[in-house]
Amino acid sequence: MKPGQQLKCPHCGKDCFLVKKSLMDGWTKVGDILACSCCSAKIADLEDEKTKASDIDSKFSSLENLLSEKKKEGPKIESSEDEKHFCRDCIHFVAHPFLSRCELRKKNVNPMNDCPEFKKK
Ligand SMILES: [Zn+2]
Repeated sequence: MKPGQQLKCPHCGKDCFLVKKSLMDGWTKVGDILACSCCSAKIADLEDEKTKASDIDSKFSSLENLLSEKKKEGPKIESSEDEKHFCRDCIHFVAHPFLSRCELRKKNVNPMNDCPEFKKK
C-alpha cells in the first residue's frame, strides 16, 4: 500500500484513497500511517523508509567491519611472511607479468614458495 492508492474504506465504506498521515503521540511523532481520505481512519501502517534505510546501512557497516577486520589482519600476515623465505623476496626471483621465474633454478616458481635456496634481496 502506498499514498494515493485507491480503495474502498473498511471504516466508512466509501471509495477513498490512501493519504499519508503522521501518527502522533502527544507532540512526538511515532510514525507514519496510511489513512482514509474521507474519514481519516487508519488503514495501514506506512513502512518507515528511514528505518529500512538504516537497516541497510547497518548491514553495510557490518560488512565494512568485516572487511576492515580483514585489513587489520593484513600487516600480521606480512610480518609472519618476513620470517619465511618466500621466492618473491628472493634475490633469484624475477617477476614477469604473467609468470614468475627463479633465476637460480631456471624454472617457473610460485612467488609464495618457501625456497631452500632463498637469499634475501
Ligand atoms: Zn473512510
